Amino acid sequence: MFPTAAPTTGPTPPLVAVVGGGPAGLLAAQRLAEAGFRVRVFEQKATVGRKFLVAGHGGFNLTNGEGVGPMAAHYGAQAAFFGKLLAHFSPTDLRSWAADLGIATFVGSSGRVFPESQHKPADLLRAWLRRLRELGVEVHTRHRWLGFAGASGLRFLAETTGENFTLTPAATVLALGGASWPQTGSDGHWTQFLQEIGVPCQPWQPANCGAEVAWSAFFKEKVGRAPLKNIALSCGGHTVRGEILLTDYGLEGTPVYALTPQVRAALAAGSPAQLHLNLKPDLPPAEVARRLAQRRAGTSLPAFLGSMFSLRPPVPTLLRELAGPTPSDLAEAITALPITVVGLRPLAEAISSAGGVPFAEVDEYLMLHRRPGTFVAGEMLDWEAPTGGYLLQGCFSTGAWVAAGVARWQQGA
Ligand SMILES: Cc1cc2nc3c(=O)[nH]c(=O)nc-3n(C[C@H](O)[C@H](O)[C@H](O)COP(=O)(O)OP(=O)(O)OC[C@H]3O[C@@H](n4cnc5c(N)ncnc54)[C@H](O)[C@@H]3O)c2cc1C
Repeated sequence: MFPTAAPTTGPTPPLVAVVGGGPAGLLAAQRLAEAGFRVRVFEQKATVGRKFLVAGHGGFNLTNGEGVGPMAAHYGAQAAFFGKLLAHFSPTDLRSWAADLGIATFVGSSGRVFPESQHKPADLLRAWLRRLRELGVEVHTRHRWLGFAGASGLRFLAETTGENFTLTPAATVLALGGASWPQTGSDGHWTQFLQEIGVPCQPWQPANCGAEVAWSAFFKEKVGRAPLKNIALSCGGHTVRGEILLTDYGLEGTPVYALTPQVRAALAAGSPAQLHLNLKPDLPPAEVARRLAQRRAGTSLPAFLGSMFSLRPPVPTLLRELAGPTPSDLAEAITALPITVVGLRPLAEAISSAGGVPFAEVDEYLMLHRRPGTFVAGEMLDWEAPTGGYLLQGCFSTGAWVAAGVARWQQGA
């Protein structure tokens, strides 16, 4: 689909500036160098890949073992477009790329893909940087991008020397990340520079984050932090299975993160968001009813829930908190317990962010309409996806896609 041959425009290959040293930028840099371009990466932090390494702390979930079709469905409003990006650089391609750097991966029982246990995230990053060096990619850390200059220039501050300079590359890849975990460098401050050239960025919103619930003081004191395993959580017609964590401020866990778009939409409409918790998602309603019918007078609710449903603390306290000491409809309390969410956790704590450059501002190859030759990749684009490897895969796929787009654009296609 895209030309991959080295450009032939003269003895010195064209220079491509990649701004942002996260996975999207570094993969674009690798692909561009492999295609024969001269590549310089500019990163404002002292080291590249900080959020990539943070992602490794809780299990380094690189991608997902799903096929491209089912995987694309996780990219919400951008599902169709991501189908094309994932076909171009697929989960299989990502695993081959890691293997080529000496990092073997495996598909876990949940379908998530991880590096084999002997490989630390830093090993992958080290091997990757070695490969980039071999390819001639120059990485300039502590270089902050300050905006555009003229039709194709970029303004930088070299923080070690205090020098301001302007670079005029043949093409630019911006891969500046979203706005969660700003301590990793993804501070979202770059939106002002895009806005200066007329690109109206969407406001940042937390994605894949915890939900806040106004628990009573009694509940916080008694329950503190406690997991609820093998549950199903629903919001706005979407249901997600998994494990959640009750905390003193609300809820955390994969199902909560996956429902962030629905919770956010409800909160934006001005009302608290309603979650429904099914504590026994594997029991058919008739079986729940059969077991409930066996309750004897005088059996306490905690004892009955424990013996008939294997629902043990903190579940009785949770039911008491949300459905009262004697729930009028126990079947509903067990299978569709309403939980009112009053807010989402702050953006700085979120795993990812929604917002950034709208897709209407880029062409099919992720090049800015308002600035030909400038491409945009990774989380700085306005898309979101749940945890499960979809975030990194999305960043890698956009990185590979813009590299191909630059090659195509340079050849005048
Ligand atoms: C706690 C946590 C756990 C995660 N776990 C996973 C996981 O297991 N699986 C998964 O798929 N995803 C995970 N993610 C998400 C994943 O890490 C991100 O989606 C991904 O790193 C985004 O890549 P990116 O290249 O778009 O941006 P980033 O990785 O954010 O990189 C952007 C870079 O641009 C630089 N930059 C910004 N502004 C400037 C500027 N003005 N000048 C120069 N440089 C600049 C930043 O310093 C940064 O290094 C996790 C994220 C977090 C926070």
